[in-house]
Amino acid sequence: MTETFLSLGSNLGNKEENMDRAVALIEERVGHITKNSGYYYTEPWQMTSKNTFVNAVVAAETELSPLSLLFTLQAIEREMGRTQKTRRGVYEDRLIDIDILTYGRQKIQTYELTIPHPLMWKRPFVMRGMTLIDPRFTEEDFQKTFCGETQ
Ligand code: ADP
Ligand code: MG
Repeated sequence: MTETFLSLGSNLGNKEENMDRAVALIEERVGHITKNSGYYYTEPWQMTSKNTFVNAVVAAETELSPLSLLFTLQAIEREMGRTQKTRRGVYEDRLIDIDILTYGRQKIQTYELTIPHPLMWKRPFVMRGMTLIDPRFTEEDFQKTFCGETQ
């Protein structure tokens, strides 16, 4: 079993319902959710959309390998109707986006996956979820825990 932290976001349609469904599917297919920030609302970050986001961070205990985890999350995104991927690095409105923040303490850098997620420290909508899970959380602590050392 490996603990993985995931970031969820939705800014289209019935956003809370999208998030509920994604959380239920994660519990079913990824593994038991042991930590959940609850939902919070954020303004679009580095995109021009007017649609506010609902975000959450959850931690799940999983038996899936990192790549199976990615494929499982992408299947959930597709089933929930996300057809539009990020285009040329431009962020777009989305029904659901699920990103892998961490996978145990592993560092992974492959074509498909970078873990820990390289932008998590810069994204206020991720850091907010992390501090809701643990108010003592700081970037430095997190790097020590999940990356073995301060980078
Ligand atoms: P974004 O999340 O930036 O809006 P997408 O969801 O379209 O963009 O994902 C783009 C690509 O990011 C995926 O094809 C996936 O292979 C890659 N990727 C790299 N690292 C990660 C990670 N830690 N979690 C999720 N996707 C990742
Ligand atoms: Mg994504």
